[in-house]
Amino acid sequence: MKEKLLLLIALQECDTQLVKLSAKTVKLPEKIQKMEADFLAYKESVEVNKKRFDEIKSRHTECETGIKKLNEGMVKTRERLLEVKNNKEYQAMLKEIETSEKSRGEFEEKAITLLEEMESLSVMVKRDEETLEEARRKHESEKKIHEDDISAIDADTLVWKNKRDELQQSIPSDLLAQYEKVRKRNNGIGVIPVWKAVCNGCHMNIPPQLYNELQRSSELLSCPNCNRIMYYQNQDNPL
Ligand SMILES: [Zn+2]
Repeated sequence: MKEKLLLLIALQECDTQLVKLSAKTVKLPEKIQKMEADFLAYKESVEVNKKRFDEIKSRHTECETGIKKLNEGMVKTRERLLEVKNNKEYQAMLKEIETSEKSRGEFEEKAITLLEEMESLSVMVKRDEETLEEARRKHESEKKIHEDDISAIDADTLVWKNKRDELQQSIPSDLLAQYEKVRKRNNGIGVIPVWKAVCNGCHMNIPPQLYNELQRSSELLSCPNCNRIMYYQNQDNPL
């Protein structure tokens, strides 16, 4: 292939890589942000049982506190019972103790039900924690790949910029100017392969005579439609 064309193709590769790298500086942090949000949403969905468990646990603690208070109250009432002189008051206190015992019984029953629910939930919570831990590991390792990618951007950019500077020195300035002009007008692509008489840039057909010329001539030719500098490339079997 013509030497100048090879230089342009190499230059195009540098420019394409530089554009990709610059896009990465925007896209990768966005990607990480989305991953974080997705993981957080997933985490919340997995932690539904845990939330329920904590709720039940706090209700169970309330029952225990209720039982404790009733017990303390009954101890005091029983102490006062010994000092009571009149029968009416005595009967009222017995009634009070009876009511407290009934309430305590209700609390105890409730506490047992809650404990049973906590037991069955704790099995699910343990399973959920394992599931979440596995998802967390996967999430962290995927995030790490993107973070490593981000930290490599600066170094990679420097490599491609240096390579580009070197190439630029070997390309005649008028050709370089032509390439730059076309590239700026065509989404960053100034030199393009053509195969089966179709420009790979604008996807228009190249007239047969020009296509023949492209395969034989040593002249640099441009696509009549998009103006990109063309080169012939067998895409069934490139290079
Ligand atoms: Zn074209």
